[in-house]
Amino acid sequence: MIIVKSKRDLKSLIGSWKAKGEEHGVVMTMGALHEGHLALVDAANKDNDRVIATIFINPRQFDNKADLETYPIDTNEDLRKLKASGVDAVYLPQVGEIYPVGYSTTVSVADMQDCLCGATRPGHMDGVTTVVSKLLIQTNPDRAYYGQKDFQQFLLIQRVARDLDLMVDVIGVPTIREEDNLALSSRNRRLNTEQRKIAPTLFKVESAIADLLIQGEAVDHVLEWGRNYILEAGFEKVDYLELRSEENLTLITDSSSKEERLSSRVFVAAWMGNIRLIDNLPISR
Ligand code: AMP
Repeated sequence: MIIVKSKRDLKSLIGSWKAKGEEHGVVMTMGALHEGHLALVDAANKDNDRVIATIFINPRQFDNKADLETYPIDTNEDLRKLKASGVDAVYLPQVGEIYPVGYSTTVSVADMQDCLCGATRPGHMDGVTTVVSKLLIQTNPDRAYYGQKDFQQFLLIQRVARDLDLMVDVIGVPTIREEDNLALSSRNRRLNTEQRKIAPTLFKVESAIADLLIQGEAVDHVLEWGRNYILEAGFEKVDYLELRSEENLTLITDSSSKEERLSSRVFVAAWMGNIRLIDNLPISR
């Protein structure tokens, strides 16, 4: 497994693959890798001759300084996992490689930005779409893999790739969960024993909401029930619990058609202490 740290070395590595006619996929991460990240690697391995993973904790997507400062870092273990998963190369840039002095360009999608995580985390989505654009340009892949756990992020990246003609297939990989259905997340490492027991409530509520909507219950009613259930279970704050279209994140309400309701996703973000967990689930599974 090759480790590259500069754009220059990255360019010559990718050039050598292209010269041999080899297609490559990219998996972008912020490290602290778990089985969710490795599922993206597995998907990339199946579709491509070569796979490159990137590890970069992007300061521009953290709206909360404490979250950035406490974000887990375990590079040696990450590299071991990537090697064992059959990754060909890892790009490990320093901040200056991505944002040199004087850097002043932002990639911002006008659509699908203001809702969900975009509404509660100012600047977060622009930070994501900017760094992903840069990493897509630098790694120049045939395919790029993102987790459906961050569904809004996945849709925004698809839009960037299309709007900017990046000529890459943006592929969404289903969420990997623990046995109790908690979505895997690097932030789960920060949960204490009590919080860890409460955390799967998010999935429990999402699947109950899906079942209730399929049975014909009203959208407003089930969402209100869900919000109360999450708070009573021990979460301190719910940033959002909403039903939205999988195509373009349009809000689904009681005035939406039955077809729209049943082809939507339920999205949730909630806080325990200073840890914010997110999840989403399609209504028709
Ligand atoms: P992160 O390191 O948290 O920025 O995540 C890097 C990539 O892994 C993103 O595309 C995430 O959506 C994806 N990812 C994170 N957790 C999961 C999971 N539980 N299942 C599938 N993909 C995930």
